[in-house]
Amino acid sequence: MGRLFVVNLEGNIYSCKYCKTHLAFREDIVSKLFHCRHGKAYLFREVVNVTIGPKEERMMTTGLHTVADIFCVSCGSIVGWTYETAQNESQKYKEGKSVLERFKISGPDESNYQAGSHINMLVEMPIAPPNRHASGLSNTRQ
Ligand SMILES: [Zn+2]
Repeated sequence: MGRLFVVNLEGNIYSCKYCKTHLAFREDIVSKLFHCRHGKAYLFREVVNVTIGPKEERMMTTGLHTVADIFCVSCGSIVGWTYETAQNESQKYKEGKSVLERFKISGPDESNYQAGSHINMLVEMPIAPPNRHASGLSNTRQ
């Protein structure tokens, strides 16, 4: 991993709760319907300013995935994980994307996130629609 450099984002951003390093754009949220052991987690198309830990196979509610934890490049806090591969065909859309734990990040509007806000999360869902019966990843698409 070697040298560190920090990218500054402009706009509606999520940042490390501890050191305020920018991590991702709100526009890059693919889904807000993820859950982790600390509660809500968001799937992002892209995150920046993170280092990636060793890959490991992890069984999730939606099946077996090869994932790696991701850490804030500035303070080293674990902020989420990234998907290398998904075994389940219906979960392939997650490959190359990353989840940030809501608990670990500050949002563009600080802490006032409310479920069912104006953000239209499913419009951005790319490629294969997720299996709406998958537990832990319920899809509210009509
Ligand atoms: Zn940090």
